[in-house]
Amino acid sequence: MEEIFDGSFTQQEPISEIAISAALRVLRSGRLHRYNVIEGEVAETTLLEEEFARLIGSKYSLAVASGGYAMGCALRAIGVKAGDFVLSNAFTLAPVPGAIAGVGALPVFVDTVDNLTIDLEDLEQKIKSSDSKVLLLSHMRGHICDMDKLMAICNTHNVKVIEDCAHTMGASWAGVASGRHGIIGCYSCQTYKHLNSGEGGLLVTDDDEVIARAIVLSGSYMLFEQHRSIPDLAVFEKIKLETPNISGRMDNLRAAILRPQLSDLRDRVSRWNERYKIIEDGLRNVPIIKIIERAEDEAYVGSSLQFKIPKTNGNQIQIFLNGCMKRGVELKWFGASAPKAFTSKYDSWAYIEPQELVNTDRILSGLIDMRLPLTFSLKDCQIVARIISSEAMKLSKA
Ligand SMILES: *Cc1c(COP(=O)(O)O)cnc(C)c1O
Repeated sequence: MEEIFDGSFTQQEPISEIAISAALRVLRSGRLHRYNVIEGEVAETTLLEEEFARLIGSKYSLAVASGGYAMGCALRAIGVKAGDFVLSNAFTLAPVPGAIAGVGALPVFVDTVDNLTIDLEDLEQKIKSSDSKVLLLSHMRGHICDMDKLMAICNTHNVKVIEDCAHTMGASWAGVASGRHGIIGCYSCQTYKHLNSGEGGLLVTDDDEVIARAIVLSGSYMLFEQHRSIPDLAVFEKIKLETPNISGRMDNLRAAILRPQLSDLRDRVSRWNERYKIIEDGLRNVPIIKIIERAEDEAYVGSSLQFKIPKTNGNQIQIFLNGCMKRGVELKWFGASAPKAFTSKYDSWAYIEPQELVNTDRILSGLIDMRLPLTFSLKDCQIVARIISSEAMKLSKA
């Protein structure tokens, strides 16, 4: 009998009792809207922003409706306008080009290198050829490029960097938290990311005017004085009338669920990485599988795992995926001709001007993706690694 896995790749851990109690307090108060406070009360959302800024080490933070909203808000807050070119990774998730399209700007895709990060040579080329002044950098699936080199290139060419940290909350490069290299860092609190409030987003920055604009953009109804993570009120006076309200606030219920999770983040990161390591070790010596190597400076969060089956055709990969699936191991493939679930890729976003990224195509054609929920025990991870290895071995013998 072949070994079968019966865990769920989409099942996250329950919300803690502490967070549930906090949520019940908000529900019982009836004051779910962040600006609905009584005398002397500080909203949960306001407290979350203060605590998140402290955790990440930024001056300011703003809580919003989703990670995608945070990115759109960030682009607007630094002045991106309709018709502007915005650089971004060709290997990223649909909400990233979506955020660019949402402000009427035009994505310019940058190619990918073998460790799944942005191609820094191509980045410099594209900065020159597009004359773009903004990079929305996606740390896609939690892979972080050489941030020192990237920032040096962007600073040389006066390109502002917004970081998409949907999979790097709690990660860092050379000791600097992900989201703290660029002018703005954007995070998601969607169920499949590192904090779970169902939906939700956070952004961080040190820039006085950027945070003021972001707060007004998020829909502060001129109640920005209630925020604690804010610059001098004079900064708001400059921008408040010229900045539109593009409603996308977070509410107190979500903030209440998130606040207790902040103190668990470090522990969750080490539990993810423990699991990641087991699967990575289990796959490392399978000849047909190529592990994605990590740089020494990259302190990542292994909340998902990618590996490559290079030089295999699509039929064989499909056989491998089906073989794993039959044994309960749900993998995704970034090389399919039509997008499935979250694996859509740059050439499936037909609303964008067609672009050619040779290395991205080559890499994605053999790229397999696996979610790694914390509900998996360490033993589960060993089983998953064994099943993937044995199905891959079948492929190499075929
Ligand atoms: C999830 C995700 C987002 C967007 O987050 P939402 O909260 O779902 O809007 C952006 N970028 C990447 C890479 C993601 O994985």
